[in-house]
Amino acid sequence: MTRKILLRYSPQKTTEPILASVIKETGLLLNILYAEFGTRGGEILIAIDAPDKDVDNAIELFERKGVEVREIKRAIQLDRDSCFDCGACLSLCPTGALYTTDDKTVELDEDKCIYCELCVPSCPVRALKLSEF
Ligand code: SF4
Ligand code: SF4
Repeated sequence: MTRKILLRYSPQKTTEPILASVIKETGLLLNILYAEFGTRGGEILIAIDAPDKDVDNAIELFERKGVEVREIKRAIQLDRDSCFDCGACLSLCPTGALYTTDDKTVELDEDKCIYCELCVPSCPVRALKLSEF
């Protein structure tokens, strides 16, 4: 299962190549879903598809390097029984997690979701729901 981890950098840590060093030390392939940096620090949301013990090891490494780590325990669900493929949610999704298939069906690729929730209120039949676990 893909786990999503939010990394929070203090201003002092933003100039250190922490992500690169964790990738190098663990050999894990990390997918960056979202990143934002400013004068008050930064945030990176990453997805890791690896055995739990390897992800736990990477989390420990980030923490040892001074990065605050929060695992995202949320999920967006698309209720295909309610969805009528109107497409209203598609243009709002910043990552392409919501997409249309060749037969014009709307689908959700949860691995790409950054939980911005922009899509949720756009759906006229409430087919998109955010759940916490
Ligand atoms: S919450 Fe909705 S709009 Fe935001 S990334 Fe996920 S699927 Fe796309
Ligand atoms: S807005 Fe709702 S009904 Fe329309 S395509 Fe998206 S999920 Fe389906």
